[in-house]
Amino acid sequence: MAGKKTMKCLQCGHLTTAKKRNRYHFTECGLRNIYLNGISEFGCARCGEIEVVIPNIDQLQGLIAREVALLEARLKPEEIRFLRVHLGFSGADFARKISVEPETVSRWENGKSEMKLTFERFLRLMILSNAGPFREYDRMELFGSTDEKGRPRRNFTVRADHWGPGAA
Ligand SMILES: [Zn+2]
Repeated sequence: MAGKKTMKCLQCGHLTTAKKRNRYHFTECGLRNIYLNGISEFGCARCGEIEVVIPNIDQLQGLIAREVALLEARLKPEEIRFLRVHLGFSGADFARKISVEPETVSRWENGKSEMKLTFERFLRLMILSNAGPFREYDRMELFGSTDEKGRPRRNFTVRADHWGPGAA
């Protein structure tokens, strides 16, 4: 996918050309405040189909997961789900691992009940310690320390298939 300039339309097979796309609202990730910059968009001149290509999605999701795990606000249901999925757990698996009922995980993720702050901090730690020892334990007490509901718009930009924070 790296730097691909043309691709065949997935709908009709017509050859389409890449255009640079910024401020792409990445709702597919399940979060509402993520915007991508520098990605390629392939618009089909024949059938109108638009295909957006997001390179190196694993690295991007890791970057987003880290930002979510470091939030000082209590996690929203969709953020809990994002982190759980990023760790590669099904809902049932995750429930087993932390010894709660599967319904409990569902309720956390659909907002019907609030995850205990203790579980929340451990979930965050699982994300943050994945790449090796987590060296920011001082910050742990800040995780979930506010009830802030708003989330600023978060921009990520890809350059040469590597994602970094910030707008283009
Ligand atoms: Zn087409």
